[in-house]
Amino acid sequence: MLLVKDMKDLKGKRVIVRVDFNVPQKGGVISDDNRIVAALPTIRELIGKGARVVLMSHLGKVKHKEAPEVVEEQKKKNNMAPVAVRLGELLGQPVKFCPATRGEELKEAVANLKDGEVLLMQNTRYEKGEEKNDPELSKEWASLGDAFVMDAFGSAHRAHASTYGIPEILKGEGKQVAIGYLVEKEVVSLEKVVNVPASGHPYVAILGGFKVSDKIKVIDSLLKKCDKVIIGGAMAYTFAVALGKKVGNSPFEADQVEYAKRMYETGKILLPVDAVVANDFENPTDIRTIEGDIPEGFQGMDIGPKTREIYAKEISKAKTVFWNGPMGVFERDEFTAGTVAVCKACAELKDAFTVIGGGDSASAAKKLGFKEKFSHVSTGGGASLEMIENDGHLPGIDVIK
Ligand code: ADP
Ligand code: MG
Repeated sequence: MLLVKDMKDLKGKRVIVRVDFNVPQKGGVISDDNRIVAALPTIRELIGKGARVVLMSHLGKVKHKEAPEVVEEQKKKNNMAPVAVRLGELLGQPVKFCPATRGEELKEAVANLKDGEVLLMQNTRYEKGEEKNDPELSKEWASLGDAFVMDAFGSAHRAHASTYGIPEILKGEGKQVAIGYLVEKEVVSLEKVVNVPASGHPYVAILGGFKVSDKIKVIDSLLKKCDKVIIGGAMAYTFAVALGKKVGNSPFEADQVEYAKRMYETGKILLPVDAVVANDFENPTDIRTIEGDIPEGFQGMDIGPKTREIYAKEISKAKTVFWNGPMGVFERDEFTAGTVAVCKACAELKDAFTVIGGGDSASAAKKLGFKEKFSHVSTGGGASLEMIENDGHLPGIDVIK
């Protein structure tokens, strides 16, 4: 696979870079520019090579099936223009912005670029054909580039026009298509939790979060790869029901109980033995630690102290850890202890490779002060899960290979 640092003869060439500028923003104010910062190494590399850089990214959602006025509203809400300003500040050079996503205006904006200049196109999702990988749209966009770089790991599991259509066409024309620095780091790191050599065992997966149904494929896949799968979060209550336990008012998925039972029979799953429960989700006035059945009128909010100890001990033996999904409602101080315990156990590991894949898990690790202690924190929650599910394959990366 070609890497951006190995691309040649880019002086004067138009290079399309698919970046992930899907930043949280409201009314043009960007609240977290991490994703823009993460794209800088690749952009700087291309500027350094004298390329004419054409950046494309999606931002938020635009539902083209909605009424025209609703679509207009969504477009306005997900306007990419403020990102160009912020990127310019971070790069230390002006970034041109093209409000058009097709047609003459865009063509001209690209044609007017000089060597080392950077242009950001409006949100790719303004185009109806983007998410459908529309061939006409892909062709038009591909015609704007002499080369392509994929640096949007968070979108690599989607075969859209900007992530798949463009590189497919350019590659077919014999042009250079490569992955950028951000994607390279993701692929190298995640490869280590996808194909784990004997020396990487014991391999422990920590799974939590809200729903079993969101994670079925990844649970399947991890059960094949791992020695132990530790379960926490609301997901644990579906497993508890499968084992005939009572879960009070805890959220669980009735239609996943049979599945959970089958998974449990693999003998690799570790379930909580106690829970921190509350009488109300929004306004908990009665918080208790419960072993065994959770009584009516209470719901599980976090794993309990005994479980924390058992899980930490299991993690302490690991050589490889993959973590997706918080152990409890970590957003609230009363229910962070479970997530802190697994973070701490991972942080204390020596000579182990530890990976977080999951948006909320990554923000939990950051909030609780453990982010730097992990070997790798993926920038793409969905993409990292799909990479594990599909044994290392993602459409947006396979197309480059
Ligand atoms: P990720 O984004 O890391 O994949 P998920 O989106 O699957 O994680 O789940 C994160 C959410 O799960 C968090 O908002 C957290 O509050 C919630 N959660 C965890 N445990 C519970 C619980 N016991 N009850 C309700 N929600 C929970
Ligand atoms: Mg999430």
